[in-house]
Amino acid sequence: MNKAKRKPVIAGNWKMNKTATEAVELIDALIPAVKDADCTVVICTPFTTLATAVEKCKGTNICVGAENVHFEKSGAYTGEISADMLVDLGVKYVITGHSERRQYFAETDETVNKRTKAALEAGLTAIVCVGESLAQREQGVTEELVRLQTKIALQNVTAEEMSRVIIAYEPVWAIGTGRTATSEQAEEVCAAIRKVLGELYGEEIAEATVVQYGGSMNAANAEELLSKPNVDGGLIGGASLKADAFGAIVAAASK
Ligand code: PEP
Repeated sequence: MNKAKRKPVIAGNWKMNKTATEAVELIDALIPAVKDADCTVVICTPFTTLATAVEKCKGTNICVGAENVHFEKSGAYTGEISADMLVDLGVKYVITGHSERRQYFAETDETVNKRTKAALEAGLTAIVCVGESLAQREQGVTEELVRLQTKIALQNVTAEEMSRVIIAYEPVWAIGTGRTATSEQAEEVCAAIRKVLGELYGEEIAEATVVQYGGSMNAANAEELLSKPNVDGGLIGGASLKADAFGAIVAAASK
C-alpha cells in the first residue's frame, strides 16, 4: 500500500472558539466550501457545539469530532465528558493528546493512552497528537520523543482498533505561531511515525494508517506539505475557523 491508497483526512480543531449560535454560521459557510472534497473532512468543535454541529452536518460530507474525552465510562468526574456521551450525540472523531492539553491541563502520555483507548473502545476514531517542543527539537531528540509518545499513546491498542487511529504530528513550536514546519521536516517525522507503527503493528497497518501534519497549516502552504509521501492530511487550528481557508486546504488535499 502507498499514499495513493490512504484517503487524506483534513480535520479542523476549533479549540475554545465559537458558541453554538456562531457555529451555525460557520458550518453554513463550510458546507459549500468542502462539498466537492475528495478527502475526509472533519470538524472538531467544543463540547457545547457538538449537538448543533452533528445536526447541521447531517447529509453533508462533514464529520464531527470532539476535542477531548475522559477515559472513565461514567462516575464522579465533575465537568468531564465520556466517550459514550460523544457517541450518543452522533460524534465520530475525537482528538487526544493535543499539546495544549498536555501543556495547560497536565495531560501525560499515560492519560493520552487512557483517553485513546476509551475512545476506541466506544467506537470513535481517535486523532492522537504527538510532537516536540522547540527546545526538544534544538536538543536533537525530536524523533526519539515522537516515537516514545506514539508508543505510549498506543499501549494496548489492538491491530483491529488501528483502523480507527489517526496520528497527528504537531510540532508544538508550529501550533498557532504562524511558523510552519518545512515540508521536509514534516515528512521526516511523519515517516518516523510510520516506521514505529510498522514496528508495533507490521507494514500493512503502518501503510494503511493516516498520519497528519498540524501546525500553522494554511491555504498557502497546504499543497506543499500534503505533497509529501508520508503526510496524509492535516490537523488545522486557526485556518479551520475561516470557511474559505479551510475549503482551500481541503481542495489541496483532494488533488
Ligand atoms: C492545532 O491546534 O492543532 C493547530 C495545528 O493549530 P494551528 O493550525 O492554529 O497552528
